[in-house]
Amino acid sequence: MKGGATDNRSRRIVVVSHCILNVHSLEDDLALYPGLEEEVVELLIHKRVSLYQIPCPEIELSGIFRKALPKDSYDHPKIRKVYRQLADRITSSLNWYVRKDYKIEAVLGAEGSPTCGIELVGKWKEEVKEKREFPRDIEFVPEAGVFIEEFKASLAKIEVFPEWIGIPGKSIRSLKPLSFEDTLKKLDKLL
Ligand code: SF4
Repeated sequence: MKGGATDNRSRRIVVVSHCILNVHSLEDDLALYPGLEEEVVELLIHKRVSLYQIPCPEIELSGIFRKALPKDSYDHPKIRKVYRQLADRITSSLNWYVRKDYKIEAVLGAEGSPTCGIELVGKWKEEVKEKREFPRDIEFVPEAGVFIEEFKASLAKIEVFPEWIGIPGKSIRSLKPLSFEDTLKKLDKLL
C-alpha cells in the first residue's frame, strides 16, 4: 500500500550504526562530536532519507563500561551468536519496511570498529605475540567487523543488498586525514 497524495515520505531508508546518532555509546576518548556525526546527518537530511538506528551491539553484549578492543577479542562463537541473534531481530524488523516496498538504501557502519567496521577493522599486529597493548600494537586490516559480517548474512537471507559504507572513526581519521571527506563524497554520489 502506498502513502496517500498528501504523504511526503521518500520511501528510502538508511540504516545507521548506533554511535552515528549517539556518540555516548562509544568507548572513552573516541567521540569526535558532542552528540552525533554532524556532517553525515546533515547530508542525510539533504538526501531526504529516513534513518533506522540499530542498537549498539557492544553495549548489548557487554554494557557501556567496556574498553576499546581489537576484532580478535570479539571474534568468538559465543559473541557471534549474540550478534547473529541481534542481526536477525533487526532484519526481521526491517523486513516490514521491505514488505511495504520501501528501499533499504544503505547501511552506514563505523569504520575501524571491531564490531561495526565495513572495510577496515583493528587487529593485533601479527608480529606482537606477548605483552600486547591497545592501541599501540593494533593495525587496521581490510575486513568487516564481527556484527557487520553477521548482519550482512542476515539481510542476504531476505534478499536485501544495500550499499555498505563505513564512516571513519577517530583512529581511521587520524591515520588517513582525507578518509572522512572522501566518504562524504561517496555517500553524496550514492544516495
Ligand atoms: S561502532 Fe558499533 S559497537 Fe562501536 S559504539 Fe558504534 S555502534 Fe557501538
